[in-house]
Amino acid sequence: MKKILLHSCCAPCTAGVIEQLKDDFEPTLFWYNPNIFPQSEHDRRLNELLNFADDLGIKVLYGDYDYQSEHKFWLKKIAGFEDEPERGRRCEICYRLRLEATAEMAAAINKYHPDSFDLFGAELSISPHKDSEMINIIGEKIGKKYHLNFLSANFKQNDGFKKSLEVSKSHNLYRQNYCGCEFSRK
Ligand code: SF4
Repeated sequence: MKKILLHSCCAPCTAGVIEQLKDDFEPTLFWYNPNIFPQSEHDRRLNELLNFADDLGIKVLYGDYDYQSEHKFWLKKIAGFEDEPERGRRCEICYRLRLEATAEMAAAINKYHPDSFDLFGAELSISPHKDSEMINIIGEKIGKKYHLNFLSANFKQNDGFKKSLEVSKSHNLYRQNYCGCEFSRK
């Protein structure tokens, strides 16, 4: 079993991906999503993930950040691209920030506890609204920077998203109706 630090953006997407990885990977989840707006929604998704992971006995690492300042930081990073459609430049920056935080965390842990993670990845590509190719290109580039392999994937393939709906329904998970940021909420 390969040990992976898997970025998680919400419980339902994570549930679908865990199902796909269960035979070959031992996942630890990583939460860092300052893109999500408002804070009540951020906290609701996080709590749902923590409860779900607890049920399955999966560890969750939490990017220790202050939501208000980190969301401001995120807004600065995407400034100028607020009106881009989903899958555009704003999303590219958003994927990069979250993947970089994941790789940084995995590399930092490996430094003091060697071989804690064989690779890092993200469940983002399970969503039909997400550009898997863009995510994979960004992930691989970041992986080179941190000397860590990235799990290139397109989890929505082979009915992956449909199956994730079934898994999350069976766990009775809260499923949001927008990606996360205030611009996707519009
Ligand atoms: S639509 Fe989703 S991926 Fe794109 S910028 Fe907003 S939160 Fe990030």
